[in-house]
Amino acid sequence: MAESKLPAGVAVPRAAVAEGVGLTSERARQRMVERVQAAGVGDAGVLRALEAVPRHHFVDAAFASRAYEDVALPIGHAQTISRPTVVGRMLEVLLAGWEPAARRAARVLEIGTGCGYQAVVLAQLFGEVYSIERIRALHEMARAKLRPFRLASVRLVFGDGQQGIESAAPFDGIVIAAAGLEVPEPLLRQMRVGARLVAPVGAQEQSLHLIERAGIDDWRLTVLDGVRFVPLRSGTS
Ligand code: SAH
Repeated sequence: MAESKLPAGVAVPRAAVAEGVGLTSERARQRMVERVQAAGVGDAGVLRALEAVPRHHFVDAAFASRAYEDVALPIGHAQTISRPTVVGRMLEVLLAGWEPAARRAARVLEIGTGCGYQAVVLAQLFGEVYSIERIRALHEMARAKLRPFRLASVRLVFGDGQQGIESAAPFDGIVIAAAGLEVPEPLLRQMRVGARLVAPVGAQEQSLHLIERAGIDDWRLTVLDGVRFVPLRSGTS
């Protein structure tokens, strides 16, 4: 897999260091990345992005000590931050076959900002990141969590991600962080020809779907591994 040249790593924000977790987090993060790699994720760019982002900064203080375990953790409002191995897997699927220069030039859309963790990981890999969240309190929390990173390339949007962002389309990549029964039609139309979309699809039984837009009216589906995500919901709250 091609190595991508990443921008300088994200610094651990001051607030996180003050919590004390920041001091030991680098080693813990390396171990987390080793686990993601052992789980089969081989993309060097994805692994480096995961190593660069302090996951503990995004979880509730009560769970900070577990931030580098391979578990989904609560972020409030009945939502969770995804497992690092799952984030790694999704991003590797999204990126497969992209040259480093194409990654840096790409505009990607995330549906389900949650606490903002994956948006910051995406910002390590892609030139422009849009991320939509439907729960206002989480959108605002993510905004606050992202502030210390000073990422001009990330735009957080409050709204129903099923509509996508018409004004920012087309996207080179779309990643959905919540499971719907199908991939919403507007998102399919907002893919650039050649773009890739990765999403968990299903209710009780979910699997990761990769959709590639091969032409104006040509979308190709590949069904991948079984997964477990919170549901994709309509409207905002
Ligand atoms: N990427 C997140 C994972 C959050 S879990 C992270 O790194 O923390 C999935 C998120 O999707 C939840 O916050 C949920 O509120 C949000 N979500 C569900 N349906 C949505 C929709 N239609 N539009 C936008 N966000 C949605």
